Amino acid sequence: MHGTLYLILYLDMNICYLQLGSNLGDRKSMLMKALSLIENMVGDVVVASGIYESSAWGVKDQSDFLNQVLKVQTTLSPHDLLEKILNIESIIGRKRIKKWGERLIDIDILFYNNNVIHSQRLVVPHPYLHKRRFVLLPLDEIASDYLHPQCHKKISRLLMECDDMEKVGKYVL
Ligand code: ADP
Ligand code: MG
Repeated sequence: MHGTLYLILYLDMNICYLQLGSNLGDRKSMLMKALSLIENMVGDVVVASGIYESSAWGVKDQSDFLNQVLKVQTTLSPHDLLEKILNIESIIGRKRIKKWGERLIDIDILFYNNNVIHSQRLVVPHPYLHKRRFVLLPLDEIASDYLHPQCHKKISRLLMECDDMEKVGKYVL
């Protein structure tokens, strides 16, 4: 009986990669709050990358971001996962002011297993991940051999080919 139960739970387990970003308030504590809410509401954080600092992407004149990527084990479906991370963003107190604008916390789904999803609310793999060094650098740290399910390239290769010129570096404090 226990064996069967274990097998069902095991089969139901999914691996997702989430990216965290914050450029308002105490940025590091925003990332830590997000990580602990993810542990409580999404599933075990199996690996966490280091924290990186990057200049704002897309929209200028705002403060630098801290970014981190997490590998998370979850039984949630992709859309339930999206609901949960939006929920976590609002618990932390994110105000959506403008696209790519300042935020206490942004949580994006980078990958969900090898799924390719194009629904109105959710696009996975995240459509900009290969264009953003602030995503690729932390992702390369924890998943350099991971194959992007659409372009069939490893993260290490996407990072090498990425022409994003924005400044990104390991955050030390
Ligand atoms: P961005 O992250 O591009 O700056 P937002 O965080 O404001 O934008 O997200 C806006 C919407 O993007 C969310 O409400 C969600 O429905 C949608 N979305 C689509 N694909 C994803 C994804 N892979 N991860 C997170 N949100 C996504
Ligand atoms: Mg987002």
